[in-house]
Amino acid sequence: MPTQCKSCNGIYEKTQRDGTLYFHACAPVANPAYQPDPTKPNFDTVETIERAQKRDENIDDSPAAATAAGRDKNPNAPLPIKAAGRGTQ
Ligand SMILES: [Zn+2]
Repeated sequence: MPTQCKSCNGIYEKTQRDGTLYFHACAPVANPAYQPDPTKPNFDTVETIERAQKRDENIDDSPAAATAAGRDKNPNAPLPIKAAGRGTQ
């Protein structure tokens, strides 16, 4: 069953065709502060920034996240994702 990210509206499957898990992270967006005039020769759409409310389902394995998850008492405590964003539906 597909999952839709409420931050970027991207639709994806949590399990890929080869059986491996997919951890969604929203793609960056064009940075309006650095977009030159599209009528000028040096127009560049490569300048990007992370979107507000970005979702990143990759595991946060930072020491702070491990401590917050209680890994000091339970080494198998699940680690959180990096950013929940606006969630999924
Ligand atoms: Zn997303």
